[in-house]
Amino acid sequence: MPTKTRTKTKETHTKISSEELLCDQVISFFEKGYQFKKDWKKTSTSGDIINFSTGKDYTNSNVILLLMAQAIGNYKHSLWSGVFQASGKKTKKDKGNGLQIRKGERGSRIMMPIFIKKKDKNGNYVLDQNGKPVLICTGFRPTCVFNIDQFLDCDKKESIIKSYTVASAPGAEAEAKKIEHKESQKIIDKYLEVEKISFAHGGNSAYYSPTTDHIQMPPKEAFNSTCGYYGTLYHEALHSSGTKERCNRPSLLAPNSNRKMYALDEIIVEFGSVILCQSQKISTIDKLQNSSAYIEHWIEILKENKKTILQEILSQSVEAVNYLKNAGEKKDEK
Ligand SMILES: [Zn+2]
Repeated sequence: MPTKTRTKTKETHTKISSEELLCDQVISFFEKGYQFKKDWKKTSTSGDIINFSTGKDYTNSNVILLLMAQAIGNYKHSLWSGVFQASGKKTKKDKGNGLQIRKGERGSRIMMPIFIKKKDKNGNYVLDQNGKPVLICTGFRPTCVFNIDQFLDCDKKESIIKSYTVASAPGAEAEAKKIEHKESQKIIDKYLEVEKISFAHGGNSAYYSPTTDHIQMPPKEAFNSTCGYYGTLYHEALHSSGTKERCNRPSLLAPNSNRKMYALDEIIVEFGSVILCQSQKISTIDKLQNSSAYIEHWIEILKENKKTILQEILSQSVEAVNYLKNAGEKKDEK
């Protein structure tokens, strides 16, 4: 009775959506006690997280997901690609002249934006200055990429790695220990000025107070790395982006007694801070040290709704990051 057998198979193999698999990847990162540690000065590649087939940098949410995947897989390089992309094939039947994946390797999930062509009220495509259709992002879908370490060794692989490898600059070690980071300071200064957020150094804890709209940071001397200082400052500034007038983020606006919402805002700003550090090329070797108290809550939150929660968290992180960065740009336009 073939029909019956088929039904049975269906029941025993409950299909796990790619969203859930992606969420499991993040849960396992936290459960295994991994941290966002990326030392720009010691990485063999230039430090960027790059798609080696297109040469493009991964940004925003994918920075978080790929830093996690690299830690879990213990890969040496920050170079990634889809299997088909890396194969150099133009069609599926094509032989291709690119890299071949090792048997049995498992991919890491990232989010691919889904674009559609923008239409006007009359249903006609909106065109840009060059006459090309304007694309709008309607959401994301998970897709699999593989680290270059997962591909079979060959001359081509060696030359790809070589092309992205930069010698570490003399004095790089001392540079990493310097607290000052002009570009980050500029972003923060502009943000604080445009948003009229009060700020002070002093004491031994970093915090943001929504009631007084104030950021407090320990003195710079209390930190021993650029990341320690700016990673923390970004974290607190990102909390401040959640007020009603700014991003209107429910997790910041919830009462302090709501521990789960508190932890949710923590993960949103912590992801945001890692994204900002990465975009500023600041090593994140000291990241997440202060967040370990929340990790259990984070795992709990992620397990509750594996289908959508991660996308929600990451999109709020990216929104907060863009808000912080654009506050400065708004001022430049004046
Ligand atoms: Zn915090």
